[in-house]
Amino acid sequence: MHTEFLMGNEAMALGALAAGVRVVAGYPGTPSTEVLETIAKRRRDDVYVEWSVNEKSGLEVAAGAAYAGARSLVTMKQVGLNVASDPLMSLEYIGVKGGMVVLVADDPGPISSQTEQDTRTFAAYSKIPVLDPSGVDEAYHMMQEAFELSERLGSPVILRPTTRVDHGYESIEVADEAEWKACSPEGFVKDPSRWVIFPRLSVRNHAAIEARNANLADELSSDPANLIEPASDPTSRIGIATQGVSYGYVHEALDGAATSPRILRVATPFPFPERRALEFLDGLDEVLCVEELDPVIERGLIAACGRHHLDVRIRGKLTGDIQPSGENSVASVGKALAGFLGDASLAGASPTLPDDAPQLPVRPPVLCAGCPHRASFYAVKCAMAGAKTIYCGDIGCYTLGNAHPLDMCDTCLCMGAGVNIAQGVTRVEPDTKAFAFVGDSTFFASGITGVVNAFYNQADMTLVVLDNSTTAMTGHQPHPGTGKTMMGEVVQKVSIEAVLRGIGLTCVETVNPLDHDLAVETVRRVAAEPGVKAIIFKSPCVMLAKPKAKSTVDPEKCIGCKRCVSQLGCPALVPQPDGKVAIDATQCTGCTLCEQVCPVHAISGGERI
Ligand code: SF4
Ligand code: SF4
Repeated sequence: MHTEFLMGNEAMALGALAAGVRVVAGYPGTPSTEVLETIAKRRRDDVYVEWSVNEKSGLEVAAGAAYAGARSLVTMKQVGLNVASDPLMSLEYIGVKGGMVVLVADDPGPISSQTEQDTRTFAAYSKIPVLDPSGVDEAYHMMQEAFELSERLGSPVILRPTTRVDHGYESIEVADEAEWKACSPEGFVKDPSRWVIFPRLSVRNHAAIEARNANLADELSSDPANLIEPASDPTSRIGIATQGVSYGYVHEALDGAATSPRILRVATPFPFPERRALEFLDGLDEVLCVEELDPVIERGLIAACGRHHLDVRIRGKLTGDIQPSGENSVASVGKALAGFLGDASLAGASPTLPDDAPQLPVRPPVLCAGCPHRASFYAVKCAMAGAKTIYCGDIGCYTLGNAHPLDMCDTCLCMGAGVNIAQGVTRVEPDTKAFAFVGDSTFFASGITGVVNAFYNQADMTLVVLDNSTTAMTGHQPHPGTGKTMMGEVVQKVSIEAVLRGIGLTCVETVNPLDHDLAVETVRRVAAEPGVKAIIFKSPCVMLAKPKAKSTVDPEKCIGCKRCVSQLGCPALVPQPDGKVAIDATQCTGCTLCEQVCPVHAISGGERI
């Protein structure tokens, strides 16, 4: 064993390697992304790792490996579980042979997601056991427990960290590589009565799963991770039930309090450890449940009280004592505890900042300086000026095209939805020119099916693929269009243009969006074509390929019209006190877009790539 200072995601990755994982798949999504990336960096040669095209594919790859007896891991964020839910629901009925962990990172807040859905609830819905770590060290150990549990039960097990666990840091003891568990999978053994899902098998296995979960709830009640901490005053009749990072917040908020109540920390929310909960409830009159997202513990305790006729008042989200949505914090928990315990001093509980700490600047989300997506949106906007349009966006950096002054994202629902939304709108409003913007990674993840649907059903719309040759928003992961894998192999690229032509589109044009006049002319020409047509705006992400030259404004020529600022909104363009505009050289990438927009040619010096 040795000590490392690790991020939660890195700790879970090392936990998986220590557990002998052999196959790892996933789709990048904050806050889960670094788990797979760390495994790719730290793996031994016998560990296979891939970024799959979406979460459904990743889960199926991991399931196949587990069918063959290997330990496998699939990683995703909470909305990714929606994509993977179809195979996951059936997989629980089929089961696995090797241990299989489904790591789903939840995002209370949400800080970087569309939803605040709670995977603990999804676990109950799919009947799959779920482990809920409170910190980095526990996440490392729980990953290994999850593999053990999965293999023993023959069921996938969900490990569900939240953002603060994923991105928190701790110094923890981890196994040396020589101590990692060896794994020798038996291989796939044909047995249609086991591996082929039929209604008869589902009926039989559903009953077995229910019986197993009832037993498991009792077994997990003895799991030391479901811990009970005694009250400082043994005569106290109140308790706090909590989970995840909220457990740490409760302790921080109580630090210095006159008395500390009995605390239950639930680390295995499904199946609910009722026997442990009954030990906790014994002799209590009132309990406050401090948890994030859904009231899972609160409902578990209410059910336990009902079943066992206990006269304990359970408070939490359902009673309005805990905020119904959003992230908890030491401050919010302290406020709730102040009311619950009648100790006003707890309301001010929060980490104190030094008096001279600078205020953080307010930074609204914005496309990077030099981002080629800005040029793409601007070209479409110029080409379609005056027309009745709808711009259907998607999930990625380019969702930021909704911001002023571009205003080029009228809808955004979920990965790959933009193409189908555009089709739906034009079914109702055929006179609207519909555009669907999709990134290159999202195109492969779930955009393709929408294009097939649009083409087959003879929709009339323009697909705009914003191809920056990477999965930029989550940290530049490769995808089938980049020509390399997560294992570092150089492979044949999947050509988006060839895919579109293969589907049947006859009008597919590829153009560099930073060539503004050509880009505008292309949009006008392609959008005028009937049916489904496509423009691929191809230019690399500025984080990958930065030109050496930068643009500068000649103050003698600048007339202060602010056209560059008001049309493009590039953060490197800075209005000056004298009414003119200057360029912040630390941000400018010299993309030349503003040079092409300036009516008096006051800007020069950039280098288009
Ligand atoms: S050249 Fe102009 S538009 Fe491009 S990054 Fe520099 S300031 Fe921004
Ligand atoms: S568009 Fe040209 S003239 Fe107008 S403010 Fe910008 S740099 Fe100056």
